[in-house]
Formats: sequence, C-alpha cells, structure tokens
Amino acid sequence: MSSKSLTTADRSQPTRPNDMFDYLVVGAGFAGSVLAERLARGSGKRVLLCDQRAHIGGNAYDEYDAAGVLVHRYGPHIFHTNSAEVFNYLSRFTDWRSYEHRVLASVDGQLLPMPINLDTINRLYGLNLDSAGVEGFLASVAETPAAVRTSEDVVVSRVGRDLYNKFFRNYTRKQWGLDPSELDAQVAARIPVRTNRDDRYFTDEYQAMPRRGFTRLFENLLDHPNISILLNTDYREIADEIPFRKMIYTGPIDEYFDLRFGKLPYRSLEFRHETHDRARFQPAAVVNYPNDHDYTRITEFKYLTGQEHRQTSVVYEFPKAVGDPYYPVPQAANAAIYKQYRELAEATPNVRFVGRLATYRYYNMDQVIAQALTVYKKIAADEAGLREMRNGYRNGEIAPALGRG
Ligand code: FAD
Ligand code: UDP
Repeated sequence: MSSKSLTTADRSQPTRPNDMFDYLVVGAGFAGSVLAERLARGSGKRVLLCDQRAHIGGNAYDEYDAAGVLVHRYGPHIFHTNSAEVFNYLSRFTDWRSYEHRVLASVDGQLLPMPINLDTINRLYGLNLDSAGVEGFLASVAETPAAVRTSEDVVVSRVGRDLYNKFFRNYTRKQWGLDPSELDAQVAARIPVRTNRDDRYFTDEYQAMPRRGFTRLFENLLDHPNISILLNTDYREIADEIPFRKMIYTGPIDEYFDLRFGKLPYRSLEFRHETHDRARFQPAAVVNYPNDHDYTRITEFKYLTGQEHRQTSVVYEFPKAVGDPYYPVPQAANAAIYKQYRELAEATPNVRFVGRLATYRYYNMDQVIAQALTVYKKIAADEAGLREMRNGYRNGEIAPALGRG
C-alpha cells in the first residue's frame, strides 16, 4: 500500500475515492480528529481526514523509540483540564493514568520548584518563611507597573525583579526570541506564583495521561467506517481532485490565504531525543534551564507515562524562528494581522478554521478540544435549523416569501 493510499479507519470498508465526501478535514491533530469523529459518529457524515505528516495525532503524537521507550516526538504533552465535558469526551477513547506534573528550574546551582512557591523562595534565599512570611516577602519585592500589559509586567508585579531575572527573563528570551516586555501578559500569566508548598505545575481538576498513549487515543477516536485517512498529503494536492462539500482547516491560517496579509510568526522548536543506559536521568519529569544552555528544558518521558524500563529517554527543546509552526506568538502586532485573516476566514463560505494554528491562539490540548466540540455543536445546530426550515417549508408553515428571500 502506498503511503498516500486512501484508508478507512477500520480498514474493512471498501473505499470509493471518487465519491463525494461531506467534509475534508485538514490536519489530524486534536482539532481535526475531534471534528472528524463528531461529524462521522455524531452526524453520519462521510469525512476525509488528511495530514501532510506521516501520522495522525498532530503535535500530540507519541511513539515507541528504538529502545522501546514511549516518547512524544514533538515535545512533552501533559493532559490537564477543568472541563468535565472535555475529560468525559476523551474518556470514551482512552483509559487514564493519574499523573500530576512537577517541574524543577536550575537556578544559581540549585534545582528549585517551578512555579515559584514557598520552598523555591526559602531555598533560593536561605530563608525559613511560612506562607504569611512569603506573602510579606513578595509584597516587599513586587513592583507596581502603571498597567499590567506585558509578560514582564505580570512577573515583576507578582515576584519583583530578582526572581523575574532568575526564572523568567532569560527563559522567555530563549523560548520566544523576544524580551518578556515585548510579549503579551498571557504568556507569563500561564505560570502561577504560590505562597504554599504546592509544587504541581497544574492545579486543574483533571490531570491524567492516556494510559496507552496519545497515538492510541487518536486511533480509537478515528476508528469509524465513515472516516477515511490520507497521510503524507498536503490538502492542496488533493483539494481539486477529491470532491467534498465543506472543509475544516486546522493548519496555519496565513498559509491558507497564501500569506495575503503577510506572514504570521509561529515559533518553532528543534527536538533532540536521547536514550540513556540507566533507569533515571534527572530528579523530575522536566528540568527548566532559564539561564544556561541553548535549550529551555529537558523532559524525561518515563515520569509522564509511568513506563518501567531499564533505559530512559529524554528530549531537549531548542527554540527556533524557522521550522514547523508550534507556537503562535502573542503580541499586539500579530493579533492585528491575525484579525485580518480572521475576517477573511469568516467571509469564506464552507470552510471552518479550528485549532491552535488556524485560530492563532496559544491553546493547550483541552482548549483545542473544547473549541472543536463547540464548532461541532454549531454545525449540528445549523443543520438542525436548516432541516426544520425545510420541513416547515414543506408543511407550508413557513411563508414562501421567506424561502425566496
Ligand atoms: P496540531 O496538533 O498542530 O495539528 C495540526 C495538523 O495540521 C498537523 O499535524 C499538521 O501536519 C497538519 N497540517 C498543517 N497544514 C497542513 C496542510 N497544508 N495539509 C495537510 N495537513 C496540514 N498542550 C497541553 O495541553 N499540554 C501540554 O503539556 C502541551 N505541551 C506542548 C509542548 C509543545 C512543545 C508544543 C509545541 C505544544 C504543547 N501543547 C500542550 C499544545 C498542544 O500541542 C496543542 O494545543 C494541540 O496539539 C493543538 O492541536 P491542533 O489540532 O490545533 O494542532
Ligand atoms: N516561563 C519562564 N520560565 C520558566 C517556565 C516558563 O519564563 O521556567 C515562561 C516562558 O515565557 C514560557 C511561558 O512562561 O514560554 C509559558 O510556560 P509553559 O511551561 O506554559 O510553556 P509551554 O509548555 O507551552 O512551552
């Protein structure tokens, strides 16, 4: 079978490539796969899902490496959400392994809890403060910028200049190629500051990893006879050849419109994967390196997956300006360019733009899934409305004038 052959998800159905598909879904990450699933299973649509990569799962794709360790090809993906709807939806396609993520930051020769908490401050400064003491300490060092607009403002207004310089400034410059003063507040606002000893990276109600990995979750999600999958395929190669009625597009929005309003920056990363001949590499799932090295962080996957293995695999992340698009860059100038693309997208009939790249939002997986479920509900409601209108028209309940108008 060639890498581009059309396959149905359960592989038992005959394929009829010349038939009309109800939807062409571009991109098999969470945005595209959730919509493919909902349209097929929820509305009985015939869906063609294509991805230019050789696999489903988008950036959440995981795989067993040469040593047999389960790794995330595109960097660490930890599932967390406060949405019962998203968690329950995914639970139809996977069992879970409870997992609470913890991160250490290498600062001044120590590995300290990140987000900054009571222990971070006590160990960094050799203090012995309780929670009230840490609150007082932070109040004494915090700055009061005129307004909290940038990522620098967010951090210095919470923890002051010294902690900002030690934990945030250089990490951010490395990660984004920008100073925190040039980035929207939302970037650094992702990281809380705590005056207690909670050292979890996230505090969401649901924190768990798919028990058999993300790729298996995607396989289950897409296992439906109405879904055909075409890998190694840029949709532009097939859009004129394979008939479809409507499109869901989850790639970069500027590319869809041939960069008409200029290129939207998407920050990229280079990943260096390594396997080590010992069971443990580092004392936490992730160690951040704000001030040293060209990489931002090292992730050891066995913490995330719970896999037992005599070897261990890690990934280093090196931020890059060019390469696969991974992060929209939250800045006012980019939001203004995106707005132009969004207006064009809204005026483009029969195409919906969904996901992190197509809506240019720094979204986590759960937010992308929630967005896709919302888009599906709108599609289903529009169709129900149309059906009702047609029935009403047939039954003579709607004035013919409405039908003509
Ligand atoms: P993607 O997963 O990017 O999928 C888009 C797909 O479209 C891609 O597979 C691409 O190949 C395909 N495509 C693009 N253009 C075309 C085209 N022309 N033709 C065909 N196919 C095309 N989120 C969390 O919740 N927790 C985490 O811990 C976490 N860690 C992350 C770590 C890193 C390093 C990165 C980069 C992201 C992380 N995320 C995390 C965010 C998460 O990856 C995204 O929220 C989610 O994967 C976005 O899904 P998506 O479907 O919108 O996009
Ligand atoms: N950040 C930082 N120091 C850290 C961790 C995060 O300065 O030790 C900043 C940095 O700007 C980063 C942002 O906070 O890009 C968001 O961090 P997060 O861990 O959420 O990034 P992601 O996992 O999405 O790459």
